[in-house]
Amino acid sequence: MIRSYQVSLVELPLPRPMATAIHRTEAVYCALLQVQTDDAEGQSFVFSLNRHRALALKPMIDSLAAIYVQADENAVESLWQQALADLNPVGTQGFAISALTAWDTAVWDAIGCARQMPLCQMFGQVRDQVPTYASSGLWLDQSIDELINEAADFAAQGFRQIKLRVDGDIQASADRAMALRQALGDSIGILADANQSLDVDTAIQLARALERADIVWLEEPVIHHDLAGQRQVKDSSPIPIASGETDYTARGLEPTLAAGATDVLMPDLQRMGGLSEMRVVSDLAARYHTPISTHIFTEYSLSIAGSAPNCISVEHVDWFAGLFTQPVVIDQGQAQIPSGPGTGFRFDLDRIRDGLIG
Ligand SMILES: [Mg+2]
Repeated sequence: MIRSYQVSLVELPLPRPMATAIHRTEAVYCALLQVQTDDAEGQSFVFSLNRHRALALKPMIDSLAAIYVQADENAVESLWQQALADLNPVGTQGFAISALTAWDTAVWDAIGCARQMPLCQMFGQVRDQVPTYASSGLWLDQSIDELINEAADFAAQGFRQIKLRVDGDIQASADRAMALRQALGDSIGILADANQSLDVDTAIQLARALERADIVWLEEPVIHHDLAGQRQVKDSSPIPIASGETDYTARGLEPTLAAGATDVLMPDLQRMGGLSEMRVVSDLAARYHTPISTHIFTEYSLSIAGSAPNCISVEHVDWFAGLFTQPVVIDQGQAQIPSGPGTGFRFDLDRIRDGLIG
């Protein structure tokens, strides 16, 4: 039975400020959830790029305690359904789903820890490593020299794929991609992310311009709900399209799959509502013959990546490494699926104490 829980709010400064077409920040702000069952402690976190909004995550997490505390943790998927129904009046997107993610992921972690099993094994392990790509860098505000130096650092850390941020300046974006290609040679995959900043015509032109740099995929070329526009980009594009990080729950992603609007689906743990729904969306994508690549949340997404046959990669960000006692292990471009119980990642409570903001 789930006996009690605790929420802590933590500020984590980023190793270097982030700048995409739609984000700028120097830190991430995390709401950590620790759930005590009779047998184990389950842990999880969700986050915001904005300190005040992170503070607002706590009451939303508290609001689900009535569903989870005193419940049987092994009914985790049933609890997910109950929580979703309970959240219905405030809407099943945004912070409501973030709070559900915190509970669902922590409860799964507690189940795995109690059974002394990695969640990936409980979910049906299909691999012990998965391709990953370096995504904590190559921002829009960096010069070409900075991009090349950072890409070389990523390669030295063991990455074989890296992600470059691009925008509607087609010439500049293509020049930056080509400079990386020339500096890195053919052995490193380059992905490009436009963060929904383009109109359809610009996206098609950019995809064509990026083709010369042999790009792995172009991510979120247009606003995420313009599925017809994205389908048009996909049909006209010489390179694959990836999208999905912005939508909530499997039900929210199904229109993207049904419209044939993406080559690779990128579910986001916080926007799915936790590991239960990450499994559901993986299966849903498989029914549409669409591979998935998980969005940020590297540590926790490895449980899904290790058990979903159609998962082709995980995005690697280092933003949350400071929460945990051990890092994600990268070996020759592959993230190793953790072998410890639960998610395989435990909070470093001493370090976390330094960043507490609530
Ligand atoms: Mg993205």
